[in-house]
Amino acid sequence: MLASAAEFQAGASRAGSRGYFLVGKQVADFGAWGWARMDFAVEVAGKTDVGCVRTNNEDNFGYDTDCGIFVVCDGMGGAAAGEVASQLAVSTVLSYFRQIAAADAYPAFERRFEDCSEHANALGNAILSANRAIYQAGLADIRWSGMGTTIAAVLVRGKSVSIAHVGDSRIYLVRDAALEQLTSDHSLIMERVRRGLMTIEEAAVSAMQNVITRALGAEPDVQPDVSDLEIVPGDTLLLSSDGLVRHVNDDQILEIIQSAPSLQTACDTLIEAAKTGGGSDNITCVLLRFCAQSR
Ligand code: CA
Repeated sequence: MLASAAEFQAGASRAGSRGYFLVGKQVADFGAWGWARMDFAVEVAGKTDVGCVRTNNEDNFGYDTDCGIFVVCDGMGGAAAGEVASQLAVSTVLSYFRQIAAADAYPAFERRFEDCSEHANALGNAILSANRAIYQAGLADIRWSGMGTTIAAVLVRGKSVSIAHVGDSRIYLVRDAALEQLTSDHSLIMERVRRGLMTIEEAAVSAMQNVITRALGAEPDVQPDVSDLEIVPGDTLLLSSDGLVRHVNDDQILEIIQSAPSLQTACDTLIEAAKTGGGSDNITCVLLRFCAQSR
């Protein structure tokens, strides 16, 4: 599906790319657009780093503050295919919400996600669209055969956010000086933990850390986890690839986010901490902070 290459390039201009990437502080007022006026100013910062061991960066991130969409992806596949998959996922999801903004309406959804908002349904369907784009690109070009990617995505609407993920990229919430993991990894070891076959402590030292049970692009269809969350002023969300959490524990993540003088400094410090801890994989983090604003 090389027809999507133009989209891919357009999206890439706003998406993070390999190596050192730094986005300046941005404050967005989502109230200008659509269904729900925004009660918060949202500050965002993101960064990706190749780490200390690998020679290429298969992670990608991107966001569109006008559309309120924020995405982190961690690609996999031979040669440069992992980078292609993660960037195609980012650009497809951003493009999905740009089209919605232009049409000022949600499209007919190909799948309904029960017990969650229309916004969460849109996010889930955007991920289905990304899955299809990567799967078809893999079929169309032998170099990209079998490529895949994780995704962690946040959609901001009014006083709530919708979150979704596939694979082992994670979303955390910092609220009231506590860190809470909002996503549950689609990984072999976490499936074993959930089934009572392995403890969290055993999982942390398992040699199967990088085996994931769901990915975008691997199959014609995929099942993302989607949900909604009410935001309160002061909340911070962290989207990260596994290269961060493999080397930086929850207490360190919380301490860095709480003590950093800015979100960008927090991103920088999180990545430095992962590199100091070994940096065995590519590292990506995107931070969103919600601040009350007068209307
Ligand atoms: Ca990774």
